[in-house]
Amino acid sequence: MDFALGSDVEAFRMEVKDVIASTFTEDDHRRQHESGTFTSWPLYRALAERGFLERAVPGLGKGDPIELYVLFSELEKAGAPYESLAVTLCVAGIVNHVGTDDQRHRILPGLLSGEHTAALGYSEANSGSDVASIRTRAARSPDGGWVINGAKMWTTMAHVADWVLLLTRTDLDAPKHKGLTMFVLPLKTPGISVEPVWTMGDERTNATFYDDVRVGDDCVLGEVNGGWKVMTVGLSLERGVAGETNSGPTLLRHFHDWAERTNVLADSRVREKMARVAIDNEVTKLLTQRSAWIAGSGGMPTTEGAMTKLFANEAFQRAARWFQEAAGPEGLLRFDETDAAGDGWLEYEVRRATVLPIRGGTTEINRNVIARRHLGLP
Ligand SMILES: Cc1cc2nc3c(=O)[nH]c(=O)nc-3n(C[C@H](O)[C@H](O)[C@H](O)COP(=O)(O)OP(=O)(O)OC[C@H]3O[C@@H](n4cnc5c(N)ncnc54)[C@H](O)[C@@H]3O)c2cc1C
Repeated sequence: MDFALGSDVEAFRMEVKDVIASTFTEDDHRRQHESGTFTSWPLYRALAERGFLERAVPGLGKGDPIELYVLFSELEKAGAPYESLAVTLCVAGIVNHVGTDDQRHRILPGLLSGEHTAALGYSEANSGSDVASIRTRAARSPDGGWVINGAKMWTTMAHVADWVLLLTRTDLDAPKHKGLTMFVLPLKTPGISVEPVWTMGDERTNATFYDDVRVGDDCVLGEVNGGWKVMTVGLSLERGVAGETNSGPTLLRHFHDWAERTNVLADSRVREKMARVAIDNEVTKLLTQRSAWIAGSGGMPTTEGAMTKLFANEAFQRAARWFQEAAGPEGLLRFDETDAAGDGWLEYEVRRATVLPIRGGTTEINRNVIARRHLGLP
């Protein structure tokens, strides 16, 4: 079997690399780590100008999920911000799939031109893995619109995004999956406030509060009490390919360059660890490509996506810890500190690797999915 990607996909990869190299600078990199805001409008606009954003939106663009995989793989390998773009393209896909003509007309052009971004307001302080138990309430108001009250946790990018996809409870008596409604509304709507939450992976996320937020029916996405169905559409569009499985090769390169310079590479035990990481990186790549391939063939890689994230997160965490240990005290130094191993990347990736297995579905939940759907366990 030939695992190589086709020449058109490789040409697409070169174009993406070109855009990243010409628009994402060292200063941008420093700024995103200092501010915790991992986004870059110039980069997104440049990708949009070449038509890459529209092309990558699942169900809308003519690109296939292999291109989506290549786009996010190159962004992640370059240390460029990809999370906010992944969410934005997913929201664009959902609006395109279940939105009204008016919503498509109002929301999609900004998202696809790289001018606007979107945030996901699903999780709450007590509802993450079990997201259907959320309590943020949307109630009919006498004037015919809706009044939203509640608090969300981990609304990443809410402090800079334009739109939020907000999961609310609209029927208190219905079973928990059936009384939910999804809204899509501007984050500037009066009554919304945003407070920072800092993560150990440098990235800022947010707690968001909704106090008597008044919106019209034009903000309901999908059917009233059909919010779980919209969530399912969103999950199907994620397709297990948009990011967070591609950092291993860059970590290995940073470690290799440092080990070569400091002669640590002469130690055969270190070379063996590097070989193991290289093998894990290859397995991760193939698992990610398998998810993309299943999605590209019309399937829904739920179990395969869980396998990919589980393996990728654990392998990356293992590699980051090995390399930091091998680097000794220099592995504890941060970006911009003299003698930092891998210019600070080794220290940073250990912190980031701790966060990855939580967001977007935890390791335990992914194990449950695999146990039930793949292994047939009760
Ligand atoms: C940096 C970051 C960014 C995030 N960004 C967003 C965002 O933009 N939008 C958004 O809506 N959410 C976001 N999240 C939320 C994320 O999806 C949740 O944190 C995640 O789903 C886990 O939910 P929780 O934090 O409530 O933990 P819990 O669900 O309370 O889980 C706590 C622990 O119990 C385990 N556990 C829970 N249920 C089970 C079970 N059934 N079987 C076995 N073990 C179980 C979990 O694996 C975990 O170890 C983000 C989270 C982080 C950390």
